[in-house]
Amino acid sequence: MNMSSDAAFQKCTNPDCGAEFECAQAIFKCPKCGELLDVLYTWDKIEVPKNLSDFARRWANRSSPLDFSGVWRFRELLNFCEDKYKVTIGEGQTILQQNDAVAKYVDMRPGCLYLQYEGLNPSGSFKDNGMAAAFSHALMVGVKSCACASTGNTSASVALYAHSCGLKCTVFIGSGRIAYGKLSQAMDYGARTIQIQGDFDDCMRQVQDVCAKLGLYLVNSLNPFRLEGQKAIMYRIIEQMGWNVPDWIIVPGGNLGNSSAFGKAFRELRELGLIKQAPRMAIINAAGASTLFDLVNDKKLTWNNGRVNRKIIDDYYANLTARNFSPHTCASAIEISRPVNLKKCLRAIEQTHGVVRKVPDEEIVDAKAIVGKYGLGCEPASAATIAGLRHLRAEGIIGADEKVACVLTGHPLKDPNITVNYHKDRQGQFSNPPVEAPNDLDEIIKLIGSVETD
Ligand SMILES: [Zn+2]
Repeated sequence: MNMSSDAAFQKCTNPDCGAEFECAQAIFKCPKCGELLDVLYTWDKIEVPKNLSDFARRWANRSSPLDFSGVWRFRELLNFCEDKYKVTIGEGQTILQQNDAVAKYVDMRPGCLYLQYEGLNPSGSFKDNGMAAAFSHALMVGVKSCACASTGNTSASVALYAHSCGLKCTVFIGSGRIAYGKLSQAMDYGARTIQIQGDFDDCMRQVQDVCAKLGLYLVNSLNPFRLEGQKAIMYRIIEQMGWNVPDWIIVPGGNLGNSSAFGKAFRELRELGLIKQAPRMAIINAAGASTLFDLVNDKKLTWNNGRVNRKIIDDYYANLTARNFSPHTCASAIEISRPVNLKKCLRAIEQTHGVVRKVPDEEIVDAKAIVGKYGLGCEPASAATIAGLRHLRAEGIIGADEKVACVLTGHPLKDPNITVNYHKDRQGQFSNPPVEAPNDLDEIIKLIGSVETD
């Protein structure tokens, strides 16, 4: 089915502006008021399936790249471009694993905890969902060159998609603040990599100006088309739960693109009558980068029907600047203190009756070791979900027999240094360091024997 794009448009999220734009425009922020844009749909112009389970028929047609894609097989739900522009490199072949051992660690009953492994995407993180959509939009508007700022996963994914569809690509990263696996990918996939003396927030400011000046296509999560692709993570969780919705979704909070996209996904599914109730959402900050936690829980910032109290945000950021504050956490993917999707995330929190928690690095690396030991492993930011879930269980916010899906955003090899140091240097209670042995058969046998009787 070849869909046309006249059923979709962009709309400013500021209710006092509400300006609308065609999807053929690459603007990324409202040119009238500077606020974030949504991609919206005129649903009665789109043939959306009557039931979510109707999407299952696409599995029978997996030799078609769009039906194989874990994003585009749900294409009626992000119907902003014609099929001829759609980009896919096989993203979204992910696993939702029910994991009772990790459930025990967070004090949940067997059968209740699910781990969504987004690290199984081609570039090793959830970003590929968004890039499939953003690069389709890039081809639709006819750009030749793109850029992004990145804590790492974005640069890897952008570099991979850019060369896959013939675009030039420049990535901006902060100096010394990027995990090695991610940096290696950006270089290996052929991106021009510019390391700025500063942190992610500095990179984000620079890349927006560079894109505006040079007419480059911006692929950060400010780009609303990226968030359209990231909605598919929720569709796949529902799919793998037999087309049922969990009680809770738990997601790490960095630039807040995922939480914003997930909120939008559930809002639309409810509008379409495809689900009855949205799950609640829990967003987990690292303690060293806790802007969302501070603003929501301490400063009581809310969506307020789109009229977000700007002064609270401005004062908070002015205080960060005055203190010369730079965020710091081992979970580099969420080491962000000025999240660009903050307001959209506030909307998602309101609509999903969501909560925000923060967790210290020690709890993140311990949780990461547990996911490694009993599951398929993940990068540090992903494990913040497990650490956060422990808190929410201890507080009684989440019940032991509720169905919870944690979004594990990136592959364990994204950040090998953190893993090696945790185990080798015995940094946590689950450290599993290598045992040193002399080059001698008897001694080695003796060692293995003692390990086995441990
Ligand atoms: Zn506007």
